[in-house]
Amino acid sequence: MKIKMEDKLKGKGTRKCKICGTSRGLIRAHSINICRRCFREVAVEIGFTKYG
Ligand SMILES: [Zn+2]
Repeated sequence: MKIKMEDKLKGKGTRKCKICGTSRGLIRAHSINICRRCFREVAVEIGFTKYG
């Protein structure tokens, strides 16, 4: 799985969870910018059900 570097550059170096604001355990796939904790909560909504 490839990650687009362009999406990272657009983030001005800010890598925080857009839901809770933490910078720990961030998932940097698909430019979703959310942490693992929040990801589990929204995973079903966005169609990810096989994470972890
Ligand atoms: Zn979070």
